[in-house]
Amino acid sequence: MSLNRIVQQSLDIQHNLQEVGRRADVPVVFIWDSHTGGTVKVPPFDRVYIELPADTPVGWVDGMDELWSHRHNLAIKWWEQVTAVDMNGSSCRCCGPDFSFSSNTLRQATATHRRCAYSNETHMYTEDPEIEGLPSIPLDQWLKRPHVLFIPLDVSKIDFTYNSKTPVYHTP
Ligand SMILES: [Zn+2]
Repeated sequence: MSLNRIVQQSLDIQHNLQEVGRRADVPVVFIWDSHTGGTVKVPPFDRVYIELPADTPVGWVDGMDELWSHRHNLAIKWWEQVTAVDMNGSSCRCCGPDFSFSSNTLRQATATHRRCAYSNETHMYTEDPEIEGLPSIPLDQWLKRPHVLFIPLDVSKIDFTYNSKTPVYHTP
């Protein structure tokens, strides 16, 4: 499928309030374009969230296992093929890597950019504002921003099948 079709189908879903409500807690890989050299590599999207299967572990404590690693890296490789942009590139010496990667639920992965407060008790973000008097941005509003792309599983159709023969991908 072409990049244009993937983008169009994804935007149709992420701009739909009901769809956002259904998908707020799905696991995602977050690909953050760090604007190296002053450019966005897959314009206009500098925040891309790719959905992973529902049983993928997220977070840092229990998530760094082989299944997580396989799915995380497979999604990044898939996006690299679709966009023909090197996800491990570094286009400017002073800026460092072009992209950084993390994984969490869609709600949690977007929370820091939505100005949500972090709870030291639950070690998760809440929907409360981080700064008093500056409201946090609701997820559905964040997903309407023109630089944000959420790619659902039913759009990417990535084959996440995993068994002992499946190669494990590694990003440096
Ligand atoms: Zn630079």
